[in-house]
Amino acid sequence: MAFKLPELGFEYDALEPHIDAKTMETHHSKHHAAYLKKFNAAIENTELDQKTPATIFSKVSAYSDAIRNNGGGFYNHALFWQFLTPQQNETLDPKLADAINQYFGTFEKFKEEFSDAAAKQFGSGWAWLVKKSNKELVITSTPNQDNPLMDINPVKGTPILCLDVWEHAYYLKYQNRRPDYIKAFWNVVNWRKVAELYNN
Ligand code: MN
Repeated sequence: MAFKLPELGFEYDALEPHIDAKTMETHHSKHHAAYLKKFNAAIENTELDQKTPATIFSKVSAYSDAIRNNGGGFYNHALFWQFLTPQQNETLDPKLADAINQYFGTFEKFKEEFSDAAAKQFGSGWAWLVKKSNKELVITSTPNQDNPLMDINPVKGTPILCLDVWEHAYYLKYQNRRPDYIKAFWNVVNWRKVAELYNN
């Protein structure tokens, strides 16, 4: 059972000017597709090809780097696309808003802390908003294609928002200005998806 490249649900140019069409096209059709191909090749004809990514990640330390890196690359991007939308929907779900206020003080402080985690992740990686098993919300970052579902990650839980801070995610438009890309990201966040995952 090979995994498939998910559709974005919007056109490559739909997030302009915040995230440019060329970046979206390359990111989805080249980078994401390459992780997918290598992940499928790594699990083909093994017992893992019947398992969900979450199940594989829960024991990822037992598997090869190819599975960790390409499985993470496939899964993280599939999730990331769902957190992007050209439709502004800034009215936060009340339960999500309460939880953000409870754990971060205010929505603005939450955005600052998440932006900081994204900016300070050294080299390639991701920033995450994670719902832990006790329902606590925490912000963390991971190197490379690791994620909070992986047993090797110090912070574990369900990711409910993520941001790709690999240079391939922003270099064409923003070059070395990662903070400008992070600032632009807030204009295209799909808060409905974040709320849906939080309330699950
Ligand atoms: Mn990426």
